[in-house]
Amino acid sequence: MSELKPKPSPDKQDKCVNDSISSQKNAENSVSRTKKPRGVAQLIAGACIACGARCQSVCPVNCVEMTDSGEPIIDTAKCIGCQKCVKVCPASALEMFFTPEEKRILEQLAASAAPVEEEIDPEAAAIAAKLAAYRGVWVFVEQTEGEPAKVSWELLGVGAGLARTLGVELSALVVGENVEHLCHEAFAYGAAKAYLLDAPVYYHYRTEAYVEGCCHLIEKYKPEVILMGATGMGRDLAGAIATRVGTGLTADCTGLAIDDKRNLMQTRPAFGGNIMATIMCDKYRPQMSTVRPNVMQMPERKEGAEGTIIRDPFTVPEESVLTKVIEIIRDSHSKGAVDITGAEFIISGGRGMMAPENFAILQELADELGGVVGASRSAVDAGWMAGDRQVGQTGKTVRPKIYIACGISGAIQHLVGMQDSDMVIAINRDSSAPIFEVATYGIVGDLFQVVPAITAKIRELKQKK
Ligand SMILES: Cc1cc2nc3c(=O)[nH]c(=O)nc-3n(C[C@H](O)[C@H](O)[C@H](O)COP(=O)(O)OP(=O)(O)OC[C@H]3O[C@@H](n4cnc5c(N)ncnc54)[C@H](O)[C@@H]3O)c2cc1C
Ligand code: SF4
Ligand code: SF4
Repeated sequence: MSELKPKPSPDKQDKCVNDSISSQKNAENSVSRTKKPRGVAQLIAGACIACGARCQSVCPVNCVEMTDSGEPIIDTAKCIGCQKCVKVCPASALEMFFTPEEKRILEQLAASAAPVEEEIDPEAAAIAAKLAAYRGVWVFVEQTEGEPAKVSWELLGVGAGLARTLGVELSALVVGENVEHLCHEAFAYGAAKAYLLDAPVYYHYRTEAYVEGCCHLIEKYKPEVILMGATGMGRDLAGAIATRVGTGLTADCTGLAIDDKRNLMQTRPAFGGNIMATIMCDKYRPQMSTVRPNVMQMPERKEGAEGTIIRDPFTVPEESVLTKVIEIIRDSHSKGAVDITGAEFIISGGRGMMAPENFAILQELADELGGVVGASRSAVDAGWMAGDRQVGQTGKTVRPKIYIACGISGAIQHLVGMQDSDMVIAINRDSSAPIFEVATYGIVGDLFQVVPAITAKIRELKQKK
């Protein structure tokens, strides 16, 4: 454990004495400006968790060195007391040290009502000025041949809450050819404004043209938040735009909120889904996130809602776009593919199903309910079910009315894909299985008895009708 004994430099001590003298004079003469001592950072012995030198990376004057065991040594002579390391430390292992003289000045300041002259950190001031130029929440409206992706409306739903908290407008970003109808659809889902790029070059999604167009609008109108669907198109476009405009991007967010400094708190699973991380982009704008379909709730559609369309004439010469689209082959055309994301009833099986043929009992129940069969990754990895049935972090996110989990333990990577279902029914013979923690109803028992019994009961009830 490294021990740090802060010894303020002679310079710093001189400064303190000068501050002290000036503060006494201020008190005597009722002069209204006193400099507040800033102190120096110090490590609290035994508190550092060696998080990976976050304190070192934020220090603007490079006065933090790391020991071999990953703990900081702070050069107090160079420290300017900006507190960045203190704020960033996840273990609260750093604190500010004040000399007795500085403490006395702080006490005097606290006791007097005299206004305090805060030293302005020039780096922080420059960042604040840069960020202040960006305002507004934008949602990219994904479309293919004029047909919108539902995730765009889901994002308008969450975007409305963010815009309200920030006190700004919610806008749609619509790019395509003959797609003005999508602006009106966006108004129905809550957008107040739509930025529209409408030209033949945008008919098919091609990264080069869309990046040029979107970046033109971003540079011109400066939104502070941009949300996109974590779809094939959204992932491709968001990454390219973030690189071009030089900002951060958080993929596959499951939660979005605003902190007290207007930063977007972007929550997503990390380290294989074992923890939820909240990621911020506090020095760059716009703040960009992608969100998978069905993660956010669909907002209410208000027929006839009106908004303003900002039609921008910016276009890209066709000859500068190297990609040519010959044909669009939709996923749903592929043989046997099932879209579990739109299903109202999903009956999923896990490793507890024991064999692929046993999924037949889930299919029977699904048929009675008018639903589809889903699967955990273990069942997919075992080759029992196709990959398009997988629910979870690396599969699909679903929000059915009823999700029935059969022989699924409830690993966090599975839960993130289904826990927002309206109702979860879990069938597991292990009463301590984590799936019961998110279940509305839990049945402890052998699924090979319980599932056929539920199917038989539904058939019986249907026959009685
Ligand atoms: C990066 C990463 C991404 C991942 N992504 C996903 C993902 O998208 N989706 C996903 O599902 N997993 C994912 N996983 C895997 C996840 O961690 C789990 O390993 C997996 O979900 C376990 O599947 P399971 O519940 O079917 O199997 P198990 O954990 O083995 O659970 C089987 C359950 O069946 C019960 N059971 C057995 N027999 C019966 C019976 N006769 N009657 C009733 N109950 C019975 C058992 O009590 C047990 O609870 C991911 C893992 C990682 C590291
Ligand atoms: S208070 Fe600021 S200057 Fe001092 S060590 Fe921490 S980050 Fe560096
Ligand atoms: S930020 Fe905190 S936990 Fe991380 S290395 Fe520095 S003192 Fe240790």
